[in-house]
Amino acid sequence: MKIICDWENCKKIGSYKAPIERDNSKKFKLLCLEHIKIFNKKWNYFANMSNEEIEFFIKSDLTWHKPTKSFNSSENFFNILWNNALEDKLNIFKTSGYKNFKKTKLTSTDLDALDIMGLKHEAKWEEIQKKFKYLVKKYHPDKNSGSKKFEDKLKKITLAYSQLKMTIGKK
Ligand SMILES: [Zn+2]
Repeated sequence: MKIICDWENCKKIGSYKAPIERDNSKKFKLLCLEHIKIFNKKWNYFANMSNEEIEFFIKSDLTWHKPTKSFNSSENFFNILWNNALEDKLNIFKTSGYKNFKKTKLTSTDLDALDIMGLKHEAKWEEIQKKFKYLVKKYHPDKNSGSKKFEDKLKKITLAYSQLKMTIGKK
């Protein structure tokens, strides 16, 4: 029995797995080659964004401050990134306070954040940005079969990066 590609209006054979949710590695849909490529491009969402855009995206009110989208919920974390990435909700940058990041002094939280990202406490902002991009790719669910462990790691890294952006990050 052949399975048809899950993409809308596509009649080709679906032979490539595409995860549906970040927290259920067994749940996937099957896509044809053409559509798995498009799907994977969406997963590379972050690759096409500047570091500031990534950080803003993560911190955005529009991303998090909805009733079902609590920043405090690790359960929601990846679903939100996933869903927003799939929906290409990049227009949030035009509608809110993207340019108004505030900077404060380095705190113990910042040092913890550097530790989480595996960086030295003297790390420069350029190094942090570089490391963040590297880590996001490394713990990308595509590469880890939606593993809970890596997902949690990615969440911590992202929060750490957001923290550092506020204090170390410079334009
Ligand atoms: Zn298809």
